Amino acid sequence: MSNVFRRTKIIATLGPASESPEVLEKLIRAGVDVVRLNFSHGTADEHRARAERVRAISKSMNRHVGILADLQGPKIRTARFKGNGKVMLEVGQPFDLDTSFPPDDGDQTQVGCSYEALPRDVKQGDVLLLNDGLIVMRVDAVVGTRVKCTVTVGGVLSNHKGINKQGGGLSAPALTEKDKKDLKTAVDIGADYLAISFPRSREDMDEARQMLKDLGSDMGLVAKVERAEAILEGTIEGIVEASDVIMVARGDLGVEIGDARLPHVQKHLIRLARTYNKVAITATQMMESMINNPVPTRAEVSDVANAVFDGTDAVMLSAETASGDYPDLAVKAMAQICLEAEKYPREKSKHRLHERFQKIDETLALSAMYAANHLEVRAIGSLTETGSTPLWMSRISSGMPIYALTPHEKTCRRVTLYRGVYPISFNPMGIHDHSVLNRAIVEEFQKRGLVERSDILILTKGDLMGARGGTNALKIASVDQILAAAPEDWKSQCPDCE
Ligand code: PEP
Repeated sequence: MSNVFRRTKIIATLGPASESPEVLEKLIRAGVDVVRLNFSHGTADEHRARAERVRAISKSMNRHVGILADLQGPKIRTARFKGNGKVMLEVGQPFDLDTSFPPDDGDQTQVGCSYEALPRDVKQGDVLLLNDGLIVMRVDAVVGTRVKCTVTVGGVLSNHKGINKQGGGLSAPALTEKDKKDLKTAVDIGADYLAISFPRSREDMDEARQMLKDLGSDMGLVAKVERAEAILEGTIEGIVEASDVIMVARGDLGVEIGDARLPHVQKHLIRLARTYNKVAITATQMMESMINNPVPTRAEVSDVANAVFDGTDAVMLSAETASGDYPDLAVKAMAQICLEAEKYPREKSKHRLHERFQKIDETLALSAMYAANHLEVRAIGSLTETGSTPLWMSRISSGMPIYALTPHEKTCRRVTLYRGVYPISFNPMGIHDHSVLNRAIVEEFQKRGLVERSDILILTKGDLMGARGGTNALKIASVDQILAAAPEDWKSQCPDCE
């Protein structure tokens, strides 16, 4: 069988370069599994229109594409400069940030900043990093609303550039008033995932979860790990527990903790996410040079491959697809790198090998993977309501495709982010006989060219169709055996089948 599926998922940020239906279609064809709506830019109506376009195009292509709404969060920025909107800062010169300074009047010596807590959050000797760390200043004194600094690394500073404090410690809560409004828009749009920017602790994630609950939404919650204090031992475990997905947001995180620490923090975060049965995204500058070039650098190829080796579920493109010159080539190149990297043998998973389990469905999911890793199996099919069983399965590394069979569109889109899991719309309603159900699944696989008659399959399902958490049965059999156990004309004997 020649079907080789990429296990690692690709997230593409949408923006002006990926606005048109033609480009969107190219991106999906090139391998995008999830699109990211970046709420740092654009209006609610623009995001809604993008989401509708994605739905319409993916439907016409018979593909499931997830939607990730990414809230801006409390990104702290400079206000604006007079004249041409930028100044050149020299090493050694004084420069002040002032929260009560007029927002359009910045000049060579000072600029406004709307983050009122800045003078309270910093003290003499702190280091501030502006514009992704390209400009650095040391705090000399805080006088009222004014933070007086000396430039230690100079360069051009323009309007609205980000401000980070080295080592973290800015107190802004993760959800701003704008974020709370955007969260409602994300629910309204029917996004599948919501990303919270700059969470400090699990409480920030709990607050977002509660807001979603109050709006009747159970969308997946993504914690963007991008603050130094978020990765402290004790804090990060709480954030992971309170989230469904962890994003290694290397941009701001690198600025706060120093880029040199990023690779091992990335490994640690991915491992932690998987240990807690959560999903991991690796983000930022993965194919940065492809914003302007049609091919990646060797270093970028290695970076994407290493994220795959680390066990990431998904790799993310930002400006490459939002505003770059080669959005579809960036996706194609990324897909190819992932496929190659996945050929490299991974260590046998020891995931939860020595734990006792609380739940039958979870135990069954892990038993299925134990079987899959010890027998020549072609594929795993999991009948699922919410996607939990395929998620548990996919935390165990294996080369096996895990097909999530579900009648729910929402679940199909939810699993688009899980490594090695592929959604299949499948409605078992009306089928009450398990041999017939097995046959119906096999016929679905055959229709898609996924199996041959001698292949061995693992199927998981529950006694009760449509029950959450009801997975309690594991079937291991060859395609031939499954076909032989139920009549070929089962449909004509099944009046309620859909
Ligand atoms: C990051 O900082 O790496 C990140 C993904 O966040 P954003 O793109 O929203 O700045």
